[in-house]
Amino acid sequence: MSNQDITPPQVITCRAVVCWGPDQPLKLEEITVDPPKASEVRVKLLYASVCHSDLLGSRGKPVQVFPRILGHEGVGEVESLGSEVTGFKIGDVVVPVYIGECGSCSNCKKDKTNLCLVNPLSLNGLLRDGTSRMSAQGKPLFHFLSCSTWSEYTVIDASYLVRVDSAVEPRHASFLSCGFSTGYGAAWKEAHIEPGSTVAVLGLGAVGLGVIKGSSILGATTIIGVDLNEAKRGKGEAFGMTHFLNPNQSEKSITELIQEMTGGMGVDYCFECTGVTGLVSQAVDSTKPGGGMAVIIGAGDENELHINFMSLIMGRTIKGTIFGGIKPRSDLPVLFDKCERKEIQLDQLASHEISLEELPNVEEILKEADCVKISIKF
Ligand SMILES: [Zn+2]
Ligand SMILES: [Zn+2]
Repeated sequence: MSNQDITPPQVITCRAVVCWGPDQPLKLEEITVDPPKASEVRVKLLYASVCHSDLLGSRGKPVQVFPRILGHEGVGEVESLGSEVTGFKIGDVVVPVYIGECGSCSNCKKDKTNLCLVNPLSLNGLLRDGTSRMSAQGKPLFHFLSCSTWSEYTVIDASYLVRVDSAVEPRHASFLSCGFSTGYGAAWKEAHIEPGSTVAVLGLGAVGLGVIKGSSILGATTIIGVDLNEAKRGKGEAFGMTHFLNPNQSEKSITELIQEMTGGMGVDYCFECTGVTGLVSQAVDSTKPGGGMAVIIGAGDENELHINFMSLIMGRTIKGTIFGGIKPRSDLPVLFDKCERKEIQLDQLASHEISLEELPNVEEILKEADCVKISIKF
């Protein structure tokens, strides 16, 4: 078959959930998705999932670009691709990511950071050429974090896609495209947890459970999970948590409770996964003087925070991370393999499976006590 025999990809009409403005209700809409341009791939979604950052996006964080299609976790099949795309073919199973890995910029060559300089975090809601591939009611729709997975079809620059070569359940691959991997990566790539370490994790959503699993595999012996929701105790234990702390059951602060559980010293590593700004200073104080590290993962609504000066002077470190330090093309396949071998089991994460029609009610579903992760099946 010659190239002339291949029909070029056409405009697709499909359904997506659109966020028309900050604090406006999400709406299921018919949208059009243009063919991918030269460096792009059009993906037919199999599963997507909900991550905390999508809700920040619905409120116009970190930038006010509307209308937009949210969603940055997902997995799908390559439906069509641009003329310059290499390394992918039609039918490949792929996950979107919001940080690329070119492999050759000065940051990609370092072990220290996953912030690729060539394919950075993109917040303007547009593809590389400054335009969008999606529209509804004649209006262009902004993308979200170069992903926009709450749609039957999406167009993504090939630099922000990773192929799934392992036999991973599609909904689990979706969880690995952000939340769980962010937590796992924070333990693995940012803290570099050593065997025998003590760890505390504030907030037991998918990110916190990822931290617990990563810490457990790396040999941490004390892993304290902290959450106000008693239903998270069982979830934490399923991933390797050794102690559970519900701050509502005590008058003492989280820091005091963690210190009590660790002979007064605090933990080697404390991971803040809630995005509650006031907890950052407690996370720092909960670590050991002289070498303790607080890793800040949760993104919050506030831009500034307060930290106790003396806590840092006493030799503690505070570290921020995006995507848990995961370099998508080098590190995600490692996690896909662990999932295939059942070393990582994600069934416990999957609390709700919904359709795209049900997705506009996402905030209500998230309030349910047993909610950990919402999958959207297409
Ligand atoms: Zn790079
Ligand atoms: Zn996320």
